[in-house]
Amino acid sequence: MSSNIRIEKTCEYCHNSFRAQKVTTRYCSELCNKRGYKKRIRDEKLNKAIEEENTKRPFNPVVKEKEFLSIKEVCMLIGASRWTVYRMIDNGLVKAAKIGRKTIIERNEINNLFL
Ligand SMILES: [Zn+2]
Repeated sequence: MSSNIRIEKTCEYCHNSFRAQKVTTRYCSELCNKRGYKKRIRDEKLNKAIEEENTKRPFNPVVKEKEFLSIKEVCMLIGASRWTVYRMIDNGLVKAAKIGRKTIIERNEINNLFL
């Protein structure tokens, strides 16, 4: 193995170009190596947390686009129980309409909660 090889590389942490002695070198310095490693661990943890959160609460993205929501969909949307949603209707916090046996809530009613 010759150590005279120099490969033009870009540091994965500070994005400066540097000359590496090995193809596998990813950082320009010891410091960037440490920081890059820490960052990678942090990113991995974050991604894992997001992934876990998503699998815990399977959310139908269609709900976001709908103009009228069922009680169940409102529960999913705001992460509240049925009971809470019914209480919000009783308190007049959100207006609901009855269509046959179904209670529907306009999406705007939910958005207005945050005004
Ligand atoms: Zn660097």
